[in-house]
Amino acid sequence: MSLDVRQIAVLTDNYIYLVRESETGAVAVVDPAVSEPVLAEAERLGWRITHILNTHHHNDHVGGNQAIKQATGCTIVGPRADRERIPGIDVAVGDGDVYDFGAARATVFDTPGHTKGHIAFWFADASALFCGDTLFALGCGRLFEGTPAQMWKSLGKLKALPDDAKVYCAHEYTQTNARFALSLGEDNPALAARAEEIDRTRAAGAPTVPSTLGEEKRTNPFLRADEVALAAALSMREAAPVDVFAEVRRRKDDF
Ligand code: ZN
Ligand code: FE
Repeated sequence: MSLDVRQIAVLTDNYIYLVRESETGAVAVVDPAVSEPVLAEAERLGWRITHILNTHHHNDHVGGNQAIKQATGCTIVGPRADRERIPGIDVAVGDGDVYDFGAARATVFDTPGHTKGHIAFWFADASALFCGDTLFALGCGRLFEGTPAQMWKSLGKLKALPDDAKVYCAHEYTQTNARFALSLGEDNPALAARAEEIDRTRAAGAPTVPSTLGEEKRTNPFLRADEVALAAALSMREAAPVDVFAEVRRRKDDF
């Protein structure tokens, strides 16, 4: 079994993913903000959409649900804690559940913080993580419906995955996130190098997503609230990681 992942850039900065599982040919759409570009790309590839996987209820993640379901008869899988806010949901999943689409097995994590019912899908066999608006390249989602403590815990679940995990997040926010990360003043050569690489990538008009979880652990300040170097840069050496995280999130909100 292998996963063939295609990225579709829509709206201002959203990424939708089309994921084909090689053994049965099942095809999942992750977080369809819109329907037409997804149906067009599937048609172009000759792929038959069988599933939609939703990470959370925001319209730029579920806006295409109904039209894609109508066109394909696919099964919609989304967060149990938010099932009333997911249009057309058929299967509700939550923390620790496994969901098989075709021969591909996803483990589900509850990752509240950005929204109360946010989930992430982890395909261990393909080392692929679909994390919606919880973890971004060099960033994390805004806390619309959760607390810093909830989000720090959610990020901790993702941080426990292997370094080679590909992080398929739902937005291209990386360049702004890099500027913010540098503004914190952490002495981190890996971050400086990555920021330069991101500028080159964006100048060439290419996506910076997916990244790897290893890169994020080394450079993403929202995963580094328990690192002395970051706490020191914020003059918070004695503070608990969750408080460092809250401070980084607060600064980002005002950046
Ligand atoms: Zn969102
Ligand atoms: Fe979003």
